[in-house]
Amino acid sequence: MHDLIVVGAGLAGLAAARNAVFSGQDVLVLEARARSGGRILGHRTARGVYDLGPGWVWPSMQPLIAAAVRQAGLALYPQRDDRGAFAYQDATGQVRRLAHGFAQEPPSMRIMGGMTALADWFAAALPAGVVKLEHRVIAVSRTAKGVAVTCEQSGREMTLEASRLILAMPPRLVAAMEFTPALPAHHVNQLLAVPTWMAGHAKALALYDSPVWQAAGFAGAAASQAGPLGEIHDASLPGSPDAPDEAALFGFFAWPAGLRAAQKAALPGLIAAQLGQLFGPESGRPREVIIQDWAGETATAILADRQGPAQHQHYRVLTLPAPWQDVVRLAGSEVAAEFGGYLEGALSAGGFVS
Ligand SMILES: Cc1cc2nc3c(=O)[nH]c(=O)nc-3n(C[C@H](O)[C@H](O)[C@H](O)COP(=O)(O)OP(=O)(O)OC[C@H]3O[C@@H](n4cnc5c(N)ncnc54)[C@H](O)[C@@H]3O)c2cc1C
Repeated sequence: MHDLIVVGAGLAGLAAARNAVFSGQDVLVLEARARSGGRILGHRTARGVYDLGPGWVWPSMQPLIAAAVRQAGLALYPQRDDRGAFAYQDATGQVRRLAHGFAQEPPSMRIMGGMTALADWFAAALPAGVVKLEHRVIAVSRTAKGVAVTCEQSGREMTLEASRLILAMPPRLVAAMEFTPALPAHHVNQLLAVPTWMAGHAKALALYDSPVWQAAGFAGAAASQAGPLGEIHDASLPGSPDAPDEAALFGFFAWPAGLRAAQKAALPGLIAAQLGQLFGPESGRPREVIIQDWAGETATAILADRQGPAQHQHYRVLTLPAPWQDVVRLAGSEVAAEFGGYLEGALSAGGFVS
């Protein structure tokens, strides 16, 4: 019998577990994936880590992120889209070159070492064995002393008990779990109605030996109505004298999940061609294109997320009804009181105190 079980080792779950460990509780984190971090995911090269999930934070208006970055001793640097021309592609594929890109206010800040450095800092506070990877929770029962949590691991089912449970995951995935006693239908619908922020999206990363778009006078930033990518930014990492030269672009797809899936094999070539159209022929020859499609990740998205909202949602705190509310707390970013959907929301929902 544990004091606390946390489901999900994303930023919210790691923050919640860290709190519990610091207050002397016996805590277990059950994570469906074979890695921690959740929507935080990095692609590592000899040069460093590129973000395939969240890449930006806004510490000037996000106090918890600011505190966590400070406490973790992480360095920040701004996203720069204003160091050259901006490319705009209309729906017919025509490209226009605008004199300069846009400076953001407040600037979107990137974390040196990638967003995984932040997740790793939270995970490092947990004693070995606390996080159980590849443990997908499928059912939760209310017991006299708290909760019994059933999870699958390598095709085996096991049940673990705890006094309290924190579900640090998107509400839509909570709705997919079996509750005994069952959640009333309107509560399940309430959970299903909360879109998981960015879950229907995908990111592409194009790696180069040098920033060839800069040589052509471009900042590496673009917007496209044609796709496959809809919004592109320079993803290059800050200089490091010990590492080989490398530069990168990243883009969010304009194409919806269905079209991405239908064109999956062709996407790297189509993306390279688009980058060439936008920034000149040299940019059309990346040495590698990496694609992370979140819509296909069952530990993030459900089918309904494929038609994800175009605009950021107004998220709010959600609780479960009796007999759950005393022992179970929802804690994913999408139930945060502020900055729901963002990393700041994950820290807030997870209970990180600055
Ligand atoms: C492409 C993309 C770009 C983004 N960009 C930004 C950005 O620039 N800035 C920003 O602030 N935010 C951004 N976000 C949003 C940000 O990633 C999220 O707000 C944040 O990571 C949510 O953390 P979380 O812990 O609440 O949820 P998650 O990271 O989703 O963690 C939930 C965890 O629960 C696990 N899980 C799910 N179901 C089960 C189960 N049944 N049993 C066990 N474990 C389970 C999952 O595997 C996962 O590890 C972006 C997201 C994406 C996908």
